[in-house]
Amino acid sequence: MSEELEKLVQKLMDGSISISRLEEIVGNANLAALIRRVFLERKLGINLSSIASTILDFEVLYGKNIENPIGAVQIPVGVVGPLKINGEYAKGEFYVPLATTEGALVASVSRGVKAITLSGGATTRVVMNGMTRAPLIKTKSVEESMKLVEWIRSHWDMLREEVKTVTRHGELIEFQPFIIGNLVWIRLKFNTGDAMGMNMVTFASDKICRRILKEYPGDIECVAISGNMCTDKKPAIINRLLGRGKYVVAEAVIKREVVEEKLKTTPEGIYSVNIMKNLMGSAAAGSPSYNAHVANIIAAIFLATGQDAAQVVESSLAFTWTEVRDEGLYISVTLPSLEIGTVGGGTSLPTQREALSIMGVAGGGEPVGTNALKFAEIISATVLAGELSLLAALASGHLAFAHELLGRGRIRER
Ligand code: NAP
Repeated sequence: MSEELEKLVQKLMDGSISISRLEEIVGNANLAALIRRVFLERKLGINLSSIASTILDFEVLYGKNIENPIGAVQIPVGVVGPLKINGEYAKGEFYVPLATTEGALVASVSRGVKAITLSGGATTRVVMNGMTRAPLIKTKSVEESMKLVEWIRSHWDMLREEVKTVTRHGELIEFQPFIIGNLVWIRLKFNTGDAMGMNMVTFASDKICRRILKEYPGDIECVAISGNMCTDKKPAIINRLLGRGKYVVAEAVIKREVVEEKLKTTPEGIYSVNIMKNLMGSAAAGSPSYNAHVANIIAAIFLATGQDAAQVVESSLAFTWTEVRDEGLYISVTLPSLEIGTVGGGTSLPTQREALSIMGVAGGGEPVGTNALKFAEIISATVLAGELSLLAALASGHLAFAHELLGRGRIRER
C-alpha cells in the first residue's frame, strides 16, 4: 500500500477521519473500499480476504446501491427446472435460480417442479397489479378529513398529471382513503412498469403531497410521506386484503400417479396435512400467512435476482389451498403482495442480472411491465413447487430424513 493510503488508514485508526468520508477524500469508491477494509482488518485483527474477493465495481454501485462498501458476501446459487408454466405472461419451460445456504431446499423445490411439469404444468395469473404508498395527512377534525378526501377525488386528474413530472414509467391508478378522526391516510396505488417501484412511488407521493398542501384550501399538515398503511417491510393484513405489488396465483392439478410415484404419498395425505398444518396450525398460531414455507422460495429468488431482501416480509404472505379431485391433487398458492422488479434496485448488479436472464426477464419488458408480470408468474409457480414438495414430505414422513441427508452433508457418506 502506498504511503498516502497508509496515512489514511492511520487517520481512521486514530479517529481523525470517519469511515464514511473516504470516497470524498480519495475520489474513487474502489480505493475507498480497500482502505476501509485494511482499517477494519488492522483494528479488529481479522482477515477479510474473502469479502475482498468480488467482481463488483463500487464506482458503479456507490451512491446508488451501497454506502461505506468493503466488498461482498457470496451466496451459493442452485437452479431448478424445467418448470412448465401456462401463464398469461410466462409460457413454456423455465429454469429458476435459488440463492440459499439451506441444504435440501433446492432439492425439495426441484422435486415439486418435476411433479408439476409431469402433470402438465402450473397455470399462473396476476390478479391485481399496483405498488402503494400511503402518505399520512393531519387535519383539524373528522369533517375536515372527509372534505380533504372529497377534494382529492375532485382533483384526481391534476394529481395524476403531477406524477408524470417525476417518472416516465410510473402511473397513478387509484387511491383508497382511511380516516381515523383527524388523521387521513391516502393509500395511493401506482403502476410501476417493470420496476418494483418503491423509489418511484415515494418520489411521486412526495410530489402529490406537496401539490395537495399547496392547493388545498384548508389547514392540513403532511405528517409522513409513508404513514405505514402502505405497508412496506412490515407484516400487515392490509397487503393481504388489498394487494401490494403483484397479486399472483399459481395452480396445478398433480396427477394421482405422479403424487404416488414421485412424491411417495397420496392426494388425500397432502390434503389432510394442508388443512391441519397450513390452515388450522397457522390459525392457532395467530399467523397472517397460511402456508408451509413460502418465505424459503421467495427469499432464495429475491437474493439471486437483486430484489429488496427486506420485502420478503410481505412478499411471502401466502395462502396454500388443496382439494382432492378425480384426477389427483388440486393445489394453489396465492401471493397477494409480491413486490418484485426486473429493472431498478439491485437487479442491474452483474450476477443478479445474469440470474434474471436465466428466466428471460432481465431488464425492461416489451411492452413495458410485461417482464415484471412474467417474473411474478414464474415466482408463483416455483413457490407452488416448494409448497407441494414440503407438504408431500410431511405427508409421507420424509422431511427429517431429507434434511439429515442434504442439510448435514450426509449425502456424501452414502
Ligand atoms: P429505481 O431504480 O429507483 O427506479 C427505476 C428506474 O428505472 C426509474 O428511473 C425508471 O425510469 C427506470 N426504468 C427504465 N425502464 C423501466 C421500465 N421498463 N419499467 C419501470 N421503470 C423503468 O427502482 P424502484 O423500483 O423505483 O425502487 C427500488 C429501490 O427502492 C430498491 O433499491 C429498494 O431497495 C428501494 N426502496 C426504496 C424505498 C423508499 O422509500 N424510497 C422503500 C423500499 C425500498 P422513470 O423513473 O423515468 O420511470
